[in-house]
Amino acid sequence: MTGTASTSIPLVRHWIAGKPWDGTADRSGDVYDPATGELTKHVAFATPEVVDEAVRAAASAFTGWRHSSLAKRSKILFSFREIVAERADELAAIVTSEHGKVLSDALGEVSRGLEVMEFACGIPQLLKGGYSAEVSTNVDVYSIRQPLGPVAIISPFNFPAMVPSWFFPVAIACGNTVVLKPSEKDPSAANWLAERWAEVGLPEGVFNVVHGDKVAVDALLEHEGVKAISFVGSTPIARYVYENGTRAHKRVQALGGAKNHMVVLPDADLDLAADAAVNAGFGSAGERCMAISVVVAVEPVADELVGKIRERMGEVRVGDGRREGDMGPLVTEAHRDKVAAYLDAGVEEGAELVVDGRGVKVDGEEGGFFLGPTLFDNVSPKMSIYRDEIFGPVLSVVRAPTYDAALELVNDNPYGNGTAIFTNDGGAARRFQNEVEVGMVGVNVPIPVPVSYYSFGGWKSSLFGDSHAHGTEGVHFYTRGKVVTSRWLDPSHGGINLGFPQNS
Ligand code: NAD
Repeated sequence: MTGTASTSIPLVRHWIAGKPWDGTADRSGDVYDPATGELTKHVAFATPEVVDEAVRAAASAFTGWRHSSLAKRSKILFSFREIVAERADELAAIVTSEHGKVLSDALGEVSRGLEVMEFACGIPQLLKGGYSAEVSTNVDVYSIRQPLGPVAIISPFNFPAMVPSWFFPVAIACGNTVVLKPSEKDPSAANWLAERWAEVGLPEGVFNVVHGDKVAVDALLEHEGVKAISFVGSTPIARYVYENGTRAHKRVQALGGAKNHMVVLPDADLDLAADAAVNAGFGSAGERCMAISVVVAVEPVADELVGKIRERMGEVRVGDGRREGDMGPLVTEAHRDKVAAYLDAGVEEGAELVVDGRGVKVDGEEGGFFLGPTLFDNVSPKMSIYRDEIFGPVLSVVRAPTYDAALELVNDNPYGNGTAIFTNDGGAARRFQNEVEVGMVGVNVPIPVPVSYYSFGGWKSSLFGDSHAHGTEGVHFYTRGKVVTSRWLDPSHGGINLGFPQNS
């Protein structure tokens, strides 16, 4: 819901040029504590004028920052990494209070963000170019990579600390300046990070935050000062951002939604597979782009596997993420209701509802946006619970007669973010990793999120653009290559030659 902010509830403000924005918000959004259902904050929604102010702050900081030495940049990055690590509990508590995920999970997301900060600390090594001496007489050739300018990062609600951290440490390390537009559902983590940057001496304007909705996103897409956009969110918006951003001649990487399959072969360790399905299906209430949402049981293991998954689901404790528990609420009431509607749809379409999350016992407030873990068996690819990204604690089991049928199912799916195979057969695993059309593959690992020095990204409708996040691809995304060919003449050399340069 949007409207003018009421005065008794705190307002989350934009962060521009090293300080909180002090204007008056014409429009704002509501931020809830999902575990209690309580309205806790308003968040200012940026107009195109506010976005322009932030981009101009980023543009004027760019000249100084791009020329700052690699030594200075890595020193600031090290300090930032240290302060975030020291105060990780604070950031995790903010994430839990607005997203709802349990504290241990929120700490996990902070630690994955820290890994990218650590990666970015190595920027002097990462920006090294090539050098070839004497490619022709007295001629040397070398390559350098230069920053782009102000870049925008637009992030989703499900990882308010980690997803922005996939991008901004690398962008800043490469010499760019940043305007971050986090999700309006859980906006405070972005401001907390901005405050830490200011504390460690990042020059003002290098890292800015604007809050808001489509109006702010469109303003970033259209702004001439924004040179590149890193987007993460649902597939329709990722496609929209990619198409409009590239039309405006920006470099764009837009990571979209997912429907991740876990294939279980008959020779797999079924206890390991059942643990993995429950952990990867219901962790963070299924609100992860790398969550497992489909278990493909290759016969004859389906009955036994479903039994083992159901047994474990009974042990999942649902409740307020600040208490002892395994799974918190969903992010908003509307999202909880949307996910719950899929339970009716699945039953109507003929799937077998093995565990119904609506009956779950919750260790939390009545007003919280809870839904328990749900399991469907005998799901077919035509059903909406299979086709749609539900983004909640709903696991579907599809029974496949053979490995080939399982592989075909995964490859026919329009998404291609993550997948996993569970087997004890190295040859089968190797064949799967080669044949599957998905960007990130796990072998007996259900959530194969790459470490920071590799790159994160899916295929097909899970990614628009061709650069993945962080790792070498992140450095390439945030820089442009330049090759210099130089000749320092001998004093004796000279003469006119109108021919095309030849190396000799
Ligand atoms: P979302 O697409 O609704 O929102 C993402 C961002 O886009 C937010 O900042 C939001 O304010 C903005 N936005 C929303 N509607 C818009 C519109 N009409 N025009 C312009 N901008 C708009 O996504 P979400 O619900 O916040 O996050 C969940 C989605 O993100 C899931 O689909 C999930 O799979 C995906 N996700 C993908 C990855 C990945 O790496 N591929 C990682 C995390 C989340």
